[in-house]
Amino acid sequence: MSENKKIRTRYAPSPTGKMHVGNLRTALYEFLIAKHAGGDFIIRIEDTDQERYVEGATELIYKTLALTGLSYDEGPDKDKGYGPYVQSERMATGIYLQYAKELIEKGEAYYCFCDEERLASLRQNIDGKEIMTYDKHCLHLSKEEIEANLAAGKPYVIRQNNPKEGETTFHDEIYGDITVKNEELDDMILIKSDGFPTYNFANVVDDHTMNITHVVRGCEYLSSSPKYQRLYDAFGWESPVYIHLPLITDEDHKKLAKRSGHASFEDLMEQGFLPEAIVNFVALLGWSPESDREIFTLEELIEQFDYHRINKSGSVFDMVKLRWMNGEYIKAMDTERFYELAEPYVQDILPAGMDHKKVLDLVKTRIEVFPDIAGHIDFFAELPDYDVAMYTHKKMKTNAENSLAVLRELLPILEAWDDYSADGIREVLMNYVAEKGIKNGQALWPVRTAVSGKQMTPGGAYEIMEILGKEESLRRIRVGIDKLSK
Ligand code: GLU
Repeated sequence: MSENKKIRTRYAPSPTGKMHVGNLRTALYEFLIAKHAGGDFIIRIEDTDQERYVEGATELIYKTLALTGLSYDEGPDKDKGYGPYVQSERMATGIYLQYAKELIEKGEAYYCFCDEERLASLRQNIDGKEIMTYDKHCLHLSKEEIEANLAAGKPYVIRQNNPKEGETTFHDEIYGDITVKNEELDDMILIKSDGFPTYNFANVVDDHTMNITHVVRGCEYLSSSPKYQRLYDAFGWESPVYIHLPLITDEDHKKLAKRSGHASFEDLMEQGFLPEAIVNFVALLGWSPESDREIFTLEELIEQFDYHRINKSGSVFDMVKLRWMNGEYIKAMDTERFYELAEPYVQDILPAGMDHKKVLDLVKTRIEVFPDIAGHIDFFAELPDYDVAMYTHKKMKTNAENSLAVLRELLPILEAWDDYSADGIREVLMNYVAEKGIKNGQALWPVRTAVSGKQMTPGGAYEIMEILGKEESLRRIRVGIDKLSK
């Protein structure tokens, strides 16, 4: 790439469904490479594979980009002179056919009129895989034969003409120089019989005509890249900088697939992860910063992102790490935003009239994802049917017997007490502890057990009773006394 050229990267999704984590990573890295260098990030919709097109998938792409903050400089709705930015619309301009014809003239491509039957006869079963290597049959058609076929409206495709001799080398920034023998390159289809270009052809024409400088994509495209390189060479175009990304695997080192349940951005959002945590996590799937720091805002990623630090080896999707990271984002989150985002996870659980914000204050630092909230707060809605063994706690020096005595003594005191703020409860309980000369835990453990029915709670007795209010706190203490007296 010539120096001083403005960096232009593109995210070129095919609208085929949810946004796979791998695609999000590609988009993110393209965005970061461009923004790090003050360049432009472009969106191009690759919808030439009509069979795989999924209704609504394009909208999902825009929605995901908006939620993750990957704002683009150019795209279908922001034409800066390189449009159209949707391949089916580009096709309508005739651009692909025009370039394919240029290759035919150069002897680098040819019309192929072979029908299904003939192609089927070329199929071979190699190691259990159906492989079709085209035999260049139509390369040898005469000019007259080709013209007659075209005039007769015979269906055709246009194929790349790859030589049988020699080698092709291309350079990838991560994997280095890759050289393959040309005889291994099949005469791939450039233009399909429906007139649409294949991805293989369109990506080259588009990246060149849109002045793309850096192409980031999954390593599954590495094996096709020599063929793309031959196209660039045939046209006499400079190829972009290639950056192929390592595979993302699940914990079993298998390709991260739909069935994992967390292979897409949408899956992760449904599971309650925050877009900013997902972005941070995805950034580290294959790239590592210079320090061992792990939490980065998008702005910080832009500043730090050096694509030379992308690794070759596969990256494992570590759910434990993502959960941890999400928890860090929740902890650091502005309180008002936290209330807003968490509300849907408490509204069906907490009884009417309860102060949701107070409950949420107790869990903010204790959860990793919003759905965790339910398990922490369910006891506010209903006292669970707990076992009295819970009153026994060695370190707190409590057992069923002294707990019963404490609760019996405290009940009338709490009935007479009106300040049910956390501070008020602390005051009345601490007065009692001082008067009796017992350890704090000997009063606090039984009270907290009685009002929550749980071994572990977010917040202690004071906070819980403040939220429950006087009436419900007393009712629960009476239930405790009943249970302990049996
Ligand atoms: N449309 C291709 C895909 O969604 C893009 C590959 C590329 O970035 O070149 O996989």
